[in-house]
Order: sequence, then structure tokens, then C-alpha cells
Amino acid sequence: MKAMRLSKTQPIEQRPLELLDLPAPVPGPGEVRLRVEACGVCRTDLHIIEGDLPLPRLPLVPGHQIVGVVDQAGKGVTRFREGDRVGVSWLFSTCGRCTFCQRDQENLCDAARFTGYHMDGGYAEVIVAPEAFVYPLSAGFSASEAAPLLCAGVIGFRALRQSNIKPCGRLGLYGFGGSAHIAIQVAVHWGCEVYVFTRSEEHRALARRLGAHWTGRAEDDPPGRLDSAVIFAPVGRLVLEALRVLAKGGTIAIAGITMTPIPALDYSLLYQERTVRSVANSTRQDVLDLLKLASDIPIRTEVHTFPLDEANRALHLLKESRFRGAGVLRIS
Ligand SMILES: [Zn+2]
Ligand SMILES: [Zn+2]
Repeated sequence: MKAMRLSKTQPIEQRPLELLDLPAPVPGPGEVRLRVEACGVCRTDLHIIEGDLPLPRLPLVPGHQIVGVVDQAGKGVTRFREGDRVGVSWLFSTCGRCTFCQRDQENLCDAARFTGYHMDGGYAEVIVAPEAFVYPLSAGFSASEAAPLLCAGVIGFRALRQSNIKPCGRLGLYGFGGSAHIAIQVAVHWGCEVYVFTRSEEHRALARRLGAHWTGRAEDDPPGRLDSAVIFAPVGRLVLEALRVLAKGGTIAIAGITMTPIPALDYSLLYQERTVRSVANSTRQDVLDLLKLASDIPIRTEVHTFPLDEANRALHLLKESRFRGAGVLRIS
């Protein structure tokens, strides 16, 4: 099988992913094998490739927003059969026993393994995954449209939940890439008034098209105070900007896996029961709920597709925010 593999972390400008022909994996007991149709590119892939995150193993095939068709089922598999169209997300497996797993916080599992991080991911023609962490996909989406739902979409959705936004509440979104352009569709569906803060005029135009009530830059004053905010851009200073316009009792959820340092803040910005929290990974239930909502609304993902061997270029453009919506590798 063809795969884009990382053997040494480097800046994406140096094209660290290498196109190789590797033996196709064989599904073990309880695992299914997928012929990958599409795999989204995510900022986390960029952090993995550039060495911003400690890597559990190398070489590694990245990619964790995977849509494919089951082409082989391992021993004991009961939920899927050959020909099923399915998705695989960032959460590859959990222990099922730790305190977090036992209290519906499997996203925080002490022994969680992640797709395209601990295990080879979807920048490849074939992958294997445990059937318990594979999701059926509705026929309403093409493979490329569905791929960004599996991480960008799910993280944005979990961040909305963690931001404590209520129906018809006033929500701020900071940064408007792959994740935010899906989150806004959920928030608009819930009747929220959404304000989008981003530097790019092109991203602001897309935000307005998707139902933003107001758009501007982080330094601008929106027409009203925010009940909740989600910060997608990995820029610590935005926490202060969001607190500056957050209503009393409001919550800020930070969706990224990394962020530049958050500057010292005056306690008065946080006082009046304002909350700042992070969002880490997502649970299987988050994925199932988002996929259901995506076909009910229906969510329309704006995707920019690339062939597998252009993964380096796709990630480079992502790093520079040079395309709207979500980047996707179209594999078969
Ligand atoms: Zn666990
Ligand atoms: Zn991701």
C-alpha cells in the first residue's frame, strides 16, 4: 500500500513526509481493515510532524480523520462487514478501566492511544482499527465531506459543549478554520448569535455566509458581550481578548492541543465567575452525537482536496491558513 510516512520530525517546509510502498496491515481479533477513501489534514498532524508534541514512536503514518470502506474483518468482529462505509477518529483505543473511562471521560483515559500518533493513521491506502472505535457513516456525505467531521467537527462540537453555550446564547469563535466552520453550523442550528473573530477577510466572508451575526478582529468590540467563547487559534493572547468581552458567568473553551503562552492577566478579567477551560480529545459519544447532528442539520463541510502524495503541500498551506474550510487527502 502507498503511505505518506514520517521518519524524522522537521518543519513542514522541508517536506518531511515520504511516499512509500509498505506492506498492508492485517486486522487482528476485534479489528477491521479499511480501504481509505479520504483523510482530513489537521493542525495536530502538523504539530506531530514538526515535533511540537512528544512522539511515542517513529516512523509513523499520520492522519486521524479517516473515511473508508471495510475490506476485511478480523476474528470476532460483529458490528461491521465488508463493504460498510465507516469513519475512524483521533481516539484509537482506551483502557476501559481507569477512573476516567469509568466516569464517561474516556477522552482523558490514562492509557488512551491515538490514531496517527501511537498507531499508523490514514495518510495511507489501508489502515486497521478496533471495531469498537469505528463509526458507521450515513450515505448523505461523500468521503471528502465526511472526513473533517471526524476530528475538526468533533473537537469543535465538544468545545461548544464545554463552552456551556445555551440555545440562543451569544457565542464568540476565535479563529475560523476547519473546526470553526463546522462548529458555527451547529451553533446557528441551536439558535445562537455567533460572532467570529479572525484576521482573514476571506475567512470572515465564509463565516458570514454560514450565518455569523457579526465578524471582526480579536481586538474589535462586538455588538454585545459573549455568554461563551471557543478559541480555535493556538494563540494565548486570545484568552485575554475573549475575557475582555465575556459576560459575567461566561465560559471560554480552548479547543487546541497546543497554545502559545497565555500572558499574565489582571484578576478583574476573570472575576465574576468567568471560567477558562481546555478541551482534550473527544469521546466516542461525542463522535456519534456529532455525526447524527451533521446529517440532521445537514452540515455542509467546505473542503479543499489534495492527492495523497501532496500531503506535505496540504499541511504547508494549512500552516499558513491558505485555504478556506478543511483540507482533505483524497486517497481512493
Ligand atoms: Zn482508561
Ligand atoms: Zn485532529
